[in-house]
Amino acid sequence: IKGTLFGGPPARATRFILNMENCVFCKIIKGEIPTEFLYQDEDIVAFRDINPSAPVHILIVPKKHIEKLQVVSDNEKSLLGQALLVAKKIAEGEKITQSGYKVCLNCGEGAGQIVPHLHFHLLGGWKEEGGCLC
Ligand code: AMP
Ligand code: ZN
Repeated sequence: IKGTLFGGPPARATRFILNMENCVFCKIIKGEIPTEFLYQDEDIVAFRDINPSAPVHILIVPKKHIEKLQVVSDNEKSLLGQALLVAKKIAEGEKITQSGYKVCLNCGEGAGQIVPHLHFHLLGGWKEEGGCLC
């Protein structure tokens, strides 16, 4: 693949391709890592977090490999809105609408993002009110 395919200098483009090839979420999306999808449409998938931080911990992941919110373009406005609406729908399916939930987005390594592929965390299902103060 020619480095100019994605625009910008070849070195940058090559790094981008390598990131996509190594990306754990891209592998899940392509079916290379077997994962049960709770939700799937043309643009978004959702699956349970492998290391849950709450009784319900689901990841909502756009299929497109975008590293982090910092590099999202204005063209992705509807994708971001769509992801939040998917979170809302999944929360209804998980019956955590009434008890409440968090939708979190770690933006960059400095904020604790470890997988460099944009994703929202849906967290909930605590038994007591204020069960999660994070
Ligand atoms: P973040 O810190 O925002 O990048 O969150 C990445 C999340 O992905 C973490 O909560 C991990 O537990 C989760 N994770 C990593 N690999 C997998 C996997 N193969 N399947 C499900 N969740 C994963
Ligand atoms: Zn990816």
